[in-house]
Amino acid sequence: MLLKDKVALITGAASGIGKEIAMEYAKQGAKIVIADMALEAASATAKEIEQAGGTAMAVAMNVTDEAQVDQGVADAVAAYGSVDVLISNAGIQIISPIVDLSLDNWKKLIAIHLDGAFLTTRACMRAMIASGKGGSVIYMGSVHSHEASPLKAPYVAAKHGLVGLAKVVAKEGAKNNIRANVICPGFVRTPLVDKQIPEQAKELGISEADVIKNVMLKETVDGEFTTVQDVAQTAIFLAAFATNALTGQSITVSHGWHMQ
Ligand code: NAD
Repeated sequence: MLLKDKVALITGAASGIGKEIAMEYAKQGAKIVIADMALEAASATAKEIEQAGGTAMAVAMNVTDEAQVDQGVADAVAAYGSVDVLISNAGIQIISPIVDLSLDNWKKLIAIHLDGAFLTTRACMRAMIASGKGGSVIYMGSVHSHEASPLKAPYVAAKHGLVGLAKVVAKEGAKNNIRANVICPGFVRTPLVDKQIPEQAKELGISEADVIKNVMLKETVDGEFTTVQDVAQTAIFLAAFATNALTGQSITVSHGWHMQ
């Protein structure tokens, strides 16, 4: 058990990548806090973990809401004693050319990805410092933390921004034994990706099959999607890593789409 008795707060863990990380962390002995604005689905995930013999709770958390973030982290500390791992993972996608993108949609995406990362980082860093144990902060970046694609301006900007935030957390957190790193997955078949396949097909005037083959997987070495399991295993590796030697980094899991 690589994460025995660690407390992991995972945002957006009611679905997709975050949910898989929650399930795999629980198998490694971590106590899991499912922090998601979709409370019913978050509670169902927590129940699934408990039924499989793990320990988990759900908290209602819109990551853009300062009071909800602070309350959710306080509830986690009250229940489990500390927060040792933060996975800042909640996210959305908006497909649009810049010239058609509304300011509201720009702000909405930036708020979830960057305000959310900041607010959860601040609350969890405070808890990690208070516990005296430090901890590991992991951001869910993307290949789009390093590469650009058309139709994704706010997403690419936000995912690049997370790399900068992680580097600052690495520098400020070191004295309290807090590490920060970014996982950068390629395309993973989750609801977030399933929704954008028809949207991209429409914007680009191509078929959905072409979106998958010639847009999403074209630059991979083998034409394969990255899986939620690939990302969860990377998240276990980062959280279990014992020292500050691995901090301020981004690790790409993308079937070679992006090579650093
Ligand atoms: P998903 O749609 O399956 O899950 C996203 C979760 O985030 C949902 O449970 C949703 O309720 C929650 N969420 C959305 N807005 C929220 C908010 N304001 N506050 C709290 N929770 C909120 O998506 P996914 O594919 O699992 O994506 C998870 C993360 O991984 C995102 O940050 C995404 O950008 C990133 N990512 C995904 C892919 C991919 O191909 N799927 C690739 C690289 C990075």
